[in-house]
Amino acid sequence: MTENFERIRYELPSEGVARIVLARPEAANAQDYLMLSELNDAFNLAAADEGVRVIILAADGKHFSSGHDLSASSPDMDDFPTVGTQCHFNAPGAEGYMAREAEMYLGLCWRWRNLPKPTIAQVQGKVIAGGLMLVWPMDMIVAAENVTFSDPVVAFNVNGCEYFVHPFEAGSRLAKEMLFTGRPIAAEELLQRGMVNQVVPLNDLENATLELATHIAKRPMFGLTLAKQSVNQALDAMGMYNSLQSAFSLHHIGHSNNKEVHGMLIDPAGMKVIRDEA
Ligand code: ZN
Repeated sequence: MTENFERIRYELPSEGVARIVLARPEAANAQDYLMLSELNDAFNLAAADEGVRVIILAADGKHFSSGHDLSASSPDMDDFPTVGTQCHFNAPGAEGYMAREAEMYLGLCWRWRNLPKPTIAQVQGKVIAGGLMLVWPMDMIVAAENVTFSDPVVAFNVNGCEYFVHPFEAGSRLAKEMLFTGRPIAAEELLQRGMVNQVVPLNDLENATLELATHIAKRPMFGLTLAKQSVNQALDAMGMYNSLQSAFSLHHIGHSNNKEVHGMLIDPAGMKVIRDEA
């Protein structure tokens, strides 16, 4: 584990609070696997630090994250420590790619979702598809007034991003609308739908998030952990884990179909559809 990160920063802004910052604003914080792996290392650092009770996930620049870096080459998984029990990453066909996504997308998201300390996403600008996969595993979300959430990847002929908690986050009707139309949901609607905890002016975003984190950090660690796990277990009892796994399987039916029809994991026509509507 290293603190010499390339894609992120790790900060300790006030007592009891760690802040992990996506630091690739020149690429709208598009996520390659180095960024995801560094994020995981940073969450590990914060989890292991007895002095940290609350973790903020923030981002430099205009946009929180434009999603997965589709231009990045496939990582050599041997260069990164795995967090789960996935293997056969280099197997041909669906086997290798499914293992990769199970590890680097679903595996990481689920791990961060269950981290036994409160986590807060601090978001501004666009949060697109894979961007939601960093925000939705966090416990609370503080949003700037200019924020939008969208998952337009149905245009790529798949069901949605790999951490498929849309029905839990948005409710079933808005989840379907988000997926069918790709429509970005703006701050006011996110607040009204209970999809974020607070909306604040962009200039106040960092302070408001830190104030919330500092407030929470005055409480005892174990009580916070128990409260978090109790809510998470309620979501699991409602089927969150099982529905994630089943949507992930359907996601890979989509990838396999695209591979057969288009010779690639996504329908290449989707990019134009998304760009024309942006
Ligand atoms: Zn995928």
